[in-house]
Amino acid sequence: MYIILTHDVDSIRRPIKHVLQRWRRFTFTDLLKHLLRLHNLYNNIEEILALEDRYGVRSTFFVPVQLFPIDEIVDTLRNAIAQGWEVQLHYVYESIQPESLLKLQKQYMEQRLGVKITGIRVHNLVINKELLRIFSKAGILYDSSYRAESLDTYDPVFIENILEIPIAVMDADLFGRLHMNEDYALKYIMWKVSDAQARGYKFFTILFHQESYKMKGGRIYRELLRQLALQGHIFLRCMDVYEIVRKTGIAERRES
Ligand SMILES: [Zn+2]
Repeated sequence: MYIILTHDVDSIRRPIKHVLQRWRRFTFTDLLKHLLRLHNLYNNIEEILALEDRYGVRSTFFVPVQLFPIDEIVDTLRNAIAQGWEVQLHYVYESIQPESLLKLQKQYMEQRLGVKITGIRVHNLVINKELLRIFSKAGILYDSSYRAESLDTYDPVFIENILEIPIAVMDADLFGRLHMNEDYALKYIMWKVSDAQARGYKFFTILFHQESYKMKGGRIYRELLRQLALQGHIFLRCMDVYEIVRKTGIAERRES
């Protein structure tokens, strides 16, 4: 199975008050380190890079330019890109002038990171076909904002000339919406991977937010990666999926 690992970067820090109100989410040690300013609980990008590097894995980070000043992580992101990670736009949708905001966000991101933006995931997964048309017009090659359940497939499909890479599992759905405990969530994801495989799917895309890496729930990412690696799956970035589809033409085209 091709496993695509992705991380959205919705925030990289929170006010102390916010952290203290949610102290139950964290281990005592991590919380203490945060309060002593030894480590920021909400910025785990470097740790995720180090973890993935231990498995020789490269993933895709979707980073916004509207939710916090990107300056704070530009160096980290540039280093990650130099070492083979993919960084793409976490597009923030606004109903007024969505097209000009896309151009604005994309251009700024490209300028700051020195890369061409070809992929998008919309913040809060606010996606529809009209937006896909806007993305296509702006030269975007792929989007990964639909859940697999919306498209009834785990494999990538073309919609409106955009390659859609459906999200198979997202941490926020498991822990926020379905209130799973960590043990069950791990089993659930592993079951979902083998179920997808048994039904003939080739691709399985996982979204774990970077800010949840030390939180109850999101912190199973370490164990998840270990178990997936143990099963011998092949790990891809979203751009690799696009390349495979481009070369083999395996993706289905959906009528709009
Ligand atoms: Zn987001």
